[in-house]
Amino acid sequence: MRYSVLLPGIFALLIISCKPAHKPVASGMDGIAEKYVKLVLEIGLYDKYYIDAYHGPDEWKPEEISEDKAKNFPSEELRQKAEELLTKLNAIRPAELDEMEKYRHSFLYAHVAAALGNIERLAGVKMTFEDESKIFYGATAPKADVEFLRSEIKEMLTSLPGQGTAAERLESLRSPFIIPSEKLDTIMQVAVEECRRRTALSIDLPEHESIEIELVSNQPWGAYNWYKGNAHSLIQLNTDRPSTMDYMVNYLSHEVYPGHHLHLSLMDLDFAQERGWVEFTVSPLYAPLSFIAEGIAEVGGSIIFTEAERTQFEKEVLFPIAGLDTNGYSYYKAIQKQLSKSTTYLRLEISRAYFDGKLTREQATEQLMNDLSYTNQRANQALDFVDAYGSYIINYSTGEDLLHQYINRKVQGTYTPQKAWEVFEQILRTPVIASDLQE
Ligand SMILES: [Zn+2]
Repeated sequence: MRYSVLLPGIFALLIISCKPAHKPVASGMDGIAEKYVKLVLEIGLYDKYYIDAYHGPDEWKPEEISEDKAKNFPSEELRQKAEELLTKLNAIRPAELDEMEKYRHSFLYAHVAAALGNIERLAGVKMTFEDESKIFYGATAPKADVEFLRSEIKEMLTSLPGQGTAAERLESLRSPFIIPSEKLDTIMQVAVEECRRRTALSIDLPEHESIEIELVSNQPWGAYNWYKGNAHSLIQLNTDRPSTMDYMVNYLSHEVYPGHHLHLSLMDLDFAQERGWVEFTVSPLYAPLSFIAEGIAEVGGSIIFTEAERTQFEKEVLFPIAGLDTNGYSYYKAIQKQLSKSTTYLRLEISRAYFDGKLTREQATEQLMNDLSYTNQRANQALDFVDAYGSYIINYSTGEDLLHQYINRKVQGTYTPQKAWEVFEQILRTPVIASDLQE
């Protein structure tokens, strides 16, 4: 679906020419940022997943290379480029920078260091899950007690009503709420409009922002936001696993409002277009920004909706469209909520062990099926995700936990959606990395 578009190109030019330009800084960061963007684009030639989005100048894009050339990764040359940038950044004295430039400086430093880490990865250096997440995302997932999680989940699953295995009983609770495929498109449009409306109550959305939604299949992820520049995103929903009613608002608040689409649009408009900070025209996937972006996307939905408001919206608006009965829905959601944290942490530990080679593919599949009651297809999808994206999975749970902790600290125990939003918006509008939010 598409929202009204107000000549985005012209609008962007107006922003640049009408607003007073920010005071130019003689720190040399603009030049470093341009070289960083070009370096990231060059690395992207050798890894199809690396670049999540690029909306900078076309002429900065390197020429495509042949398959043969792509096999010879120029690690030495790229390593040297990254190290030169780190040396230049090290020579800048943060004390001479204003507050936003300080954030920019540490953001750039962390991103060049992560790019160097990716050069090492593509050069064949094998990192552990822990090292990789530290280098790429600037954070690590605390190790969970696997045995404790396993028995906790087992206890919850055993208490499920019905007949058959835990997986079958879970499926029979879930199946009445699967959205009929012919209703999926309408449900998504209505749900995204509600996420947009609620987000717009707290923030002036960019006037010309727009999205398109597309249904796809055969992907290692559930949904994806492809930011195209000028506050426009393409949102894809993977239909491999039929979505249930409770997932729709989750997906859309994560990918669109107030998650990825809003976040990336604001970074583009506030930083890249208004300040001329070109590093915000590229989003490498394995980078500190992903940690913050996933944290924002995970937390955002719980700020624009309280749990009761969300369930009410689902029951009163979405269920009639889907032609489904709400009977048993609140119980199903309570079970999901109960299970969600423990299963997320246990899935992370299985992913960690699989990535580190402590579990074979067969063993990891078995654990996902036995411990989490995943179907074989879902277990394989979870492991495909690790094969494709390594330790990226920490960005969801650890990113969410860090953002929640930060927001709770900032509101000093007096949590209201409005106060939470104020902190949330400040994060959206500041180029932070994980260390800026840690205690
Ligand atoms: Zn995401």
